[in-house]
Amino acid sequence: MLVQNKFESMCGIVAYIGSREAYPVVLKGLKRLEYRGYDSAGIAIINKGLKAYKKQGKVANLEDELVGKEMHSHICIGHTRWATHGEPSDRNAHPHLSGDSKLAIVHNGIIENYAQLKHELKNQGHIFKSDTDTEVLVHFIEEIRNSNFCSVEEALRIALKRVVGAYVILLIDQDNPDTIIAARKGSPLVIGIGKGEHFLASDASPIIEYTKEVVYVNDYELVILRADELILKNSSNEIQTPYIQKLDMELATIEKGGFDHFMLKEVFEQPQTIFDSLRGRLDASKGTLNMGGLSEYAGVLKDAKRIIIVACGTSWHAGLVAEYMIEELCRIPVEVEYASEFRYRNPVVGPGDVIIAVSQSGETADTLVAIESAKEKGAIILGICNVVGSSIARLSHAGAYTHAGPEIGVASTKAFTAQLAVLCLVGLMVAKEKGTITAQRFQHLLDELDAIPDKVTSILALNEHIKIIARKYKDARDFLFLGRGYNFPIALEGALKLKEISYIHAEGYPAAEMKHGPIALVDENLPVVFVATKDTYYEKVVSNIQEIKARKGKIIAVVTEGDQVIPGMADDVIFIPEADELVAPIISVIPLQLLSYHIGVLKGCDVDKPRNLAKSVTVE
Ligand code: GLU
Repeated sequence: MLVQNKFESMCGIVAYIGSREAYPVVLKGLKRLEYRGYDSAGIAIINKGLKAYKKQGKVANLEDELVGKEMHSHICIGHTRWATHGEPSDRNAHPHLSGDSKLAIVHNGIIENYAQLKHELKNQGHIFKSDTDTEVLVHFIEEIRNSNFCSVEEALRIALKRVVGAYVILLIDQDNPDTIIAARKGSPLVIGIGKGEHFLASDASPIIEYTKEVVYVNDYELVILRADELILKNSSNEIQTPYIQKLDMELATIEKGGFDHFMLKEVFEQPQTIFDSLRGRLDASKGTLNMGGLSEYAGVLKDAKRIIIVACGTSWHAGLVAEYMIEELCRIPVEVEYASEFRYRNPVVGPGDVIIAVSQSGETADTLVAIESAKEKGAIILGICNVVGSSIARLSHAGAYTHAGPEIGVASTKAFTAQLAVLCLVGLMVAKEKGTITAQRFQHLLDELDAIPDKVTSILALNEHIKIIARKYKDARDFLFLGRGYNFPIALEGALKLKEISYIHAEGYPAAEMKHGPIALVDENLPVVFVATKDTYYEKVVSNIQEIKARKGKIIAVVTEGDQVIPGMADDVIFIPEADELVAPIISVIPLQLLSYHIGVLKGCDVDKPRNLAKSVTVE
């Protein structure tokens, strides 16, 4: 089974209960958490009944909307959303209400079995106003409360026994206006303890200006919070003693989860984000794969005359890896196109072609226009995006979200590995449909994907070692990155990352192609990074390393644990766990991300916001 570690990155929740005016405290807290998601914002208060207000877009939009409104209340829950189920809109914004409008819920995470629950609730007469998994949960709690004649707390406990997924939820009840109920599994939740007041938030940043005393809620715990009372219970309804800690962190450190930069935080989130990209899709123990809406297009993909992957930048590199994966698994010709070239050169495209558009933001201007015209010409468009409800997602016939959470660092890291994971799933789905994969290989690759998050965790443990290597080479003027097969696009990505983050000139090349030009650059001052894991091309890469060594180039090699040959030749070695060559790129890129990060930091560069770059490239 996939393991879940402590990182979870979606959405922000804040709540307050106590003697202050609750709404301004929550509003300010939401602004602090906005880096976690800004698809919409919403709050609920209780003042002569329950009132909920929500608005698409940033917290400021909500604030504008509420100017002049009577917001007096001593209890308030709030949410900034990073959509996973349903497009960003007013309708899908949190809080969501029960059918009788007496309960309000905010939720961070994903209820994986929401479709089944929704189906059952609809049969029981429930009417839903949004497309979210969250609204299903609040109706489910209401249904249990009504049919069991129990308290909301009890209903929540029963409901959570059936819920599959990860969540933090906060609930308030019009009939119980002095209590907030909270529960957590998988996503983070902190309680701030004040004098006669309590705060709740996804991280400590909204709390720190009021109190330094906090309790981190553990998985499967339930919280019953009043102004002057904190009750913590485990899933068996036994009272737990809260462990109160003192915060000694600065605000900026908290927002970055204790890391120095968002980029490093996001690199370290990858065990979780890769897990999230596979969650609900891959079940290695049952040998099943479910790609949601995309599954309906498995037949179309199987019969495609060719698949064209259209992307820019790092996403283009993910596309290149996918070309190797899909051609091998499905025996369908794949072309990978720079969106900007594809759109302008009047490409031959039409019915029978399937275009896969890959974009973190889903707003990349060149990719968007490229797929628009291909769609007009009759091609089927599938989207792989990170941002839910983005333009590319809306324009596509079907697609899959990468679920990597908001990526703040401008140079993409976690979105890239999530793209690779999802594209690999697409390849496997089509291969199964087409019968081009044996049952044994299919199961083997499911197991290999399943094992990736743990392998990433073990690579992250090499951070200090990689930092030492970075120190050694930080003053180099140029870098060369080389790899073959599945690792060739990873060499390109390693070079791109280094350029973006450290402003050192770097080039990626297929290792064999090096002889046709770039070898002229090699001398004792040129570091050459080889991505040389154990795969079909291994022996060939060893020869390429020798060619560089003979010309006195400095060799940094990413190799498979247990390799005894390359370490004898290389100046510096990074060992990574063994993985099937088809999924190896998802892990072999991690040391390269860390290498660029440390070189960038050592050179004093602004790694989160490299000069001249923008996160979402919405200009051509
Ligand atoms: N799954 C919920 C939604 O799409 C919550 C997402 C979040 O964590 O912001 O609304």
